[in-house]
Amino acid sequence: MNDRNNTLLRKNSRPMAGSAKFDTPRLIVVSAPSGGGKTTICHKLSQRNPNFRFSVSATTRPRRPGEKDGVDYFFLSREEFERKIRDDEFLEYEEVFGNLYGTLKSYVQQLLREGHSVLLDIDVKGALQIKSKFPDAVLIFILPPSTEELRKRLLGRKTDDPQEIEKRLKRLPLEYAEGKKFDYQVVNDRLDEAVERIEKILANH
Ligand code: ADP
Ligand code: 5GP
Repeated sequence: MNDRNNTLLRKNSRPMAGSAKFDTPRLIVVSAPSGGGKTTICHKLSQRNPNFRFSVSATTRPRRPGEKDGVDYFFLSREEFERKIRDDEFLEYEEVFGNLYGTLKSYVQQLLREGHSVLLDIDVKGALQIKSKFPDAVLIFILPPSTEELRKRLLGRKTDDPQEIEKRLKRLPLEYAEGKKFDYQVVNDRLDEAVERIEKILANH
């Protein structure tokens, strides 16, 4: 990333005390165990806050029914993704559950340039990479009320078979350990309360 773009990502990252909330463009990183509710929460946040935009990541994961290229993810082959790694096109990338996922520099920079705050729904390791490069990014870790409730939500989502769900649950210890390093932790019990709690955090951060 060149100096100009680094500056673009670093400056303006904190709202002025007492200013209209959320008006200052910044990076807001939301992570959670799979099924924890980060996608649902990010969509609610962007519906309720017109200045928020969702960062569409690139992935090598196969598309799920209903997912749209360029909306949910940019779906790439492993070769295309690896070419982008070589060309230094990612702010961060990670391998999660056997697939590559990455945040596209150009996408995020464009949104910041347009004056938007950018919501990054990414895994815990990618989130900590972002924090090390952009210390002003706000990191929020979403926790489910319990592992049983998480399993129930994953089953209810009907996007993964039981074997895939167990694979996702095996990552919980790593996610909880890394989630402790985040700026904030929020339990997603009642959805609306979790969203309001995050808005309060962002208004005061
Ligand atoms: P993630 O993006 O973290 O994998 P999702 O946002 O897809 O998780 O949520 C997983 C499932 O749980 C979805 O079916 C979603 O509708 C549901 N869900 C999310 N938040 C809640 C909540 N607070 N209460 C009940 N169900 C929820
Ligand atoms: P899913 O396959 O369920 O959409 O996502 C699996 C995991 O990959 C989730 O934890 C999600 O947050 C994470 N993820 C999605 N996009 C990115 C990204 O750009 N970078 C990183 N590091 N993780 C991502």
